[in-house]
Amino acid sequence: MPAVNNVLVVGGGLAGTGTAIHLAKAGVAVELIEIKPDVAALGSGITLQGNALRELKALGVWDHVQGAGYAFDVTGIRAPDPNGTVVAEIPDARTGGPDLPAVMGMPRPELARILVDRATEVGVKLRLGTTFTELSQDDDGVDVAFSDTSTGRYDLVVGADGVRSWTRRALGIDLETTSVGMGIWRVFGPRPYSVTRTDLYYGGPSFIAGYCPTGEDSLYAYIVEAAQDRSTLSPDEQLATMKELSRAYHGPWDEIRENLTDGSRVNYTWFETHVLPAPWNRGRVVLIGDAAHTCPPTIAQGGAMALEDAVVLAELLVDRDTLDQELWNAFTVRRFERAKTVVDASNQLAQWQLDHVQGDIPSLMRSIAVLTSQPA
Ligand SMILES: Cc1cc2nc3c(=O)[nH]c(=O)nc-3n(C[C@H](O)[C@H](O)[C@H](O)COP(=O)(O)OP(=O)(O)OC[C@H]3O[C@@H](n4cnc5c(N)ncnc54)[C@H](O)[C@@H]3O)c2cc1C
Repeated sequence: MPAVNNVLVVGGGLAGTGTAIHLAKAGVAVELIEIKPDVAALGSGITLQGNALRELKALGVWDHVQGAGYAFDVTGIRAPDPNGTVVAEIPDARTGGPDLPAVMGMPRPELARILVDRATEVGVKLRLGTTFTELSQDDDGVDVAFSDTSTGRYDLVVGADGVRSWTRRALGIDLETTSVGMGIWRVFGPRPYSVTRTDLYYGGPSFIAGYCPTGEDSLYAYIVEAAQDRSTLSPDEQLATMKELSRAYHGPWDEIRENLTDGSRVNYTWFETHVLPAPWNRGRVVLIGDAAHTCPPTIAQGGAMALEDAVVLAELLVDRDTLDQELWNAFTVRRFERAKTVVDASNQLAQWQLDHVQGDIPSLMRSIAVLTSQPA
C-alpha cells in the first residue's frame, strides 16, 4: 500500500507532471492543477542532459521525446572571431547511461505536450487554468480551496509550481531568490543545416553566445549578458538588440542572425538562484523542482533536477506505507545535497564569467557528470 491514496500536484511543469505520472501509474489518485490554460502554448527550447533523459524514459515517454528532439554527444567551443573558429570539441558525458544520448535539444512546448498527454493516459485528473486559493492542513490531510470555487481534501499536496511558487508562499516560507548578475536573450527559430550540436562562444561583447538544435527544423539560440533592465523594450526593439549583440558571432550564427525576424520569438530573462534549506516539506505539503531550488542554466541541469525530485518523491511514496518523518528524512538524504551541489556548480560557472576568472571548468564539469551519472 502506498503511503498516500490521493495527491494534489500544483504545477504542470517537469516536476509536477513527473510526480503525477509516477504516482498515477502506481495506482494513487492524482489531481494536477495548472494555472495556465495550455501548458504547450509558448516557449523556447530546452537542453536535456542524459540524466534528464533517463527520467523521461522511466516516465514512459522516451520514444516520443526521441522523435521530437535532436540528440548529440559533443559540444563545440568557438571563438568570437570573424570565422567563428572551432577551438575545441568536447565529448559530453552520457550521464543517463550508454543507451541514451548525452544531450538532447527539445522545443519546450513539445516536451510539455508529451508529458501532459502521458499524464492523461495514466489517469491523472488534469485541471488546466486552475489554481488554489487556500491550503490548510491537519494531521490527517490537507484541505484545499480552488480558484473555480471547488474544494478537496488530499493526503499530500506537492508544490511543483516553479521559482515563484505560490505553494511556498502559502506555507509562509520566506526564501530569497537572488539575481546571479546575468541576463539571457533567447530566440526560437529554424535550424541551419550546419547546426548539429550545441556550440558555445565565450567572450566577445557578451559572456556567452550559443545555440542548441531542438529538432530537424528548429533550434534555440541565446546570448548571455550582464543583467540589465530590458523590460521597457518592445518586441521589435528586443529583436534589434539581440541581433545587434549577435553581430560579434559568426560561423552558424551568421545564418541564425539572418533568420532573426520575429520579435515575438525573442525572450529576455535574468538568471536567478535559490536553495531552500531542508526539509522541503511542511507537514503534508512538499516543495520540489524550481520551487525548492533554482539555478542559472550554465550546465543545463534545472530540468533534470526537477525530474529527479519527482521520481525520488514518487518512489518513496509508493514504496513506503506511511507518510512519516522517516520518509521525509529519506527524501532529504536523496535530494538535498545533490540538488544543492548542482546549484552551487551552476552559480560557480556564472561567477567565474562575471569575475573574468579562468576557473577549473573541466574539473567542475567532470564532478557534476560523475554525480549525475549515478541514478538519483
Ligand atoms: C533562461 C533559462 C533557461 C533554462 N534552460 C534550461 C535548460 O536548457 N535545461 C534544463 O534542464 N533546465 C533549464 N532551465 C531550468 C528549467 O527550466 C527549470 O529548472 C525547470 O523547468 C523546473 O521545472 P519545474 O517543474 O520545477 O518548474 P516550472 O517549469 O516553472 O513549472 C511550474 C509550473 O507551475 C505552474 N504554476 C505556477 N504557479 C501556479 C499556481 N499557483 N497554480 C498552478 N500552477 C502554477 C506554471 O505555470 C508552470 O507550468 C532554464 C531556466 C531558465 C530561466
